[in-house]
Amino acid sequence: MIEKQVTLTTSASHEPSSPSVAKGNLGAIVTAQVEKAANFIGLPSSISSILSHPQHIVMVNFPVRMDNGDMRLFQGYRVQHNNILGPYKGGIRYHQDVHLEEVMGLASAMTWKSALHDIPYGGGKGGVKVNPLLHSQAELERITRRFTFEISSHIGPETDIPAPDVGTSAQTMAWMMDTYQKLAMPKDRNSARGVVTGKPIELGGSYGRDAATGQGVVHCISEWARREQIPLTGKKVSIQGFGNVGSHTARILHKLGVSMVAVGDYKGYIYQQNGIDPHLLLEHVKRTGSVIDYPSSKVITREEFFAVDCDILVPAALELEIGEKEAQSIKARLIVEGANGPTFPEAEEILISRGVTVLPDIMANSGGVMVSYFEWLQNMRSEYWDLEEVEARLEKIMKRTFNRVYDRMKAQNISPRLSVYATALERIQKAYTLTGIWP
Ligand code: NAD
Repeated sequence: MIEKQVTLTTSASHEPSSPSVAKGNLGAIVTAQVEKAANFIGLPSSISSILSHPQHIVMVNFPVRMDNGDMRLFQGYRVQHNNILGPYKGGIRYHQDVHLEEVMGLASAMTWKSALHDIPYGGGKGGVKVNPLLHSQAELERITRRFTFEISSHIGPETDIPAPDVGTSAQTMAWMMDTYQKLAMPKDRNSARGVVTGKPIELGGSYGRDAATGQGVVHCISEWARREQIPLTGKKVSIQGFGNVGSHTARILHKLGVSMVAVGDYKGYIYQQNGIDPHLLLEHVKRTGSVIDYPSSKVITREEFFAVDCDILVPAALELEIGEKEAQSIKARLIVEGANGPTFPEAEEILISRGVTVLPDIMANSGGVMVSYFEWLQNMRSEYWDLEEVEARLEKIMKRTFNRVYDRMKAQNISPRLSVYATALERIQKAYTLTGIWP
């Protein structure tokens, strides 16, 4: 049989980006925030300079056959920021706007996240420049398997452990794990399942992983309310993004009596003064693919969304969504960063001057990496922990970290973000001081 003739061009055949990617450079923003904290704690410049660059950048261009027989070239990344505390750890993002600077910024954020909680991981992140909504399951499977093959010599249960992020899921992790296992020596195949976390339970995933990031966001909100002596019942929340993080945050807050008055996704925003039931909305999203057209809700603009009268705002979509304009109009007194890097630094200054508390991503959305850590431990020990055990461990660590950060913030009169970065950097500083720089 003669193969259908295919043409492989260069970057012109990569997936196109969104028409308006006028965002800032997340990597540069995270670096500036880290530098501020480094100066604050007096971090030696030798350590700062190590931390200001990723240790490795893997960039791959790989062809995949589409359902119609054509080939298309895709670009993917795996950035390994730092592993002084343990294997690189961090998600894989599928989005048409994925680019190197973004992945670098997200990879370094993972280093601080693990250090903040004192868990034995470093930071990494990956991504493929692809719009998953434009591909069939079969195409996504082939993209995932080929990407995994391309980065397979750089990842592993003891070296670098990917997980889901925007546009990827437990199913993506199942394909990654299976591909990696098939490439491993037979004797290593069982332990190879620890190469990714966020897997389906049936393949060694952990109970509680799916909801973990949203659950962590809610632990931060509850602890903040407890320390500030503010009752949560009856409060109103707006959530940007109704995917994994946004939907679980909404669902768990609903149980605590917090009503979601506004929510948005890639298609638009909706508002309902009396609150939107997150369970019903989730069913609607599963049916229609978006929050838009949810019965008895009012469609609002992005500007109106950020100006909605509410007590808590949870950005849980993409990075760099809250700029100066949004910061001026936000009514919430508490912003909890479910997404990575959603707030521009200039916007945060405006928010702080307006008395708004911003709980930073590194702490607020770290429930996912925490349960990923539990999943990895279970895989290594060939154990399954029940949901109660996972939830109890997550709650204990999230609350411990929150209170450490909160106490420091009050004692030193600093922002939550500075408190978070200072705490994480001190942990890494101790490790570098003990090991020294070899040779
Ligand atoms: P997801 O793909 O499940 O959901 C993303 C949501 O954002 C979707 O509802 C999507 O429609 C919406 N969205 C996309 N573009 C948008 C836009 N331009 N405007 C408004 N909404 C838009 O992703 P997720 O896993 O929920 O991740 C969301 C954020 O949380 C990301 O920043 C991610 O890095 C971060 N995060 C996720 C986890 C996790 O465990 N999933 C952990 C830590 C941090």
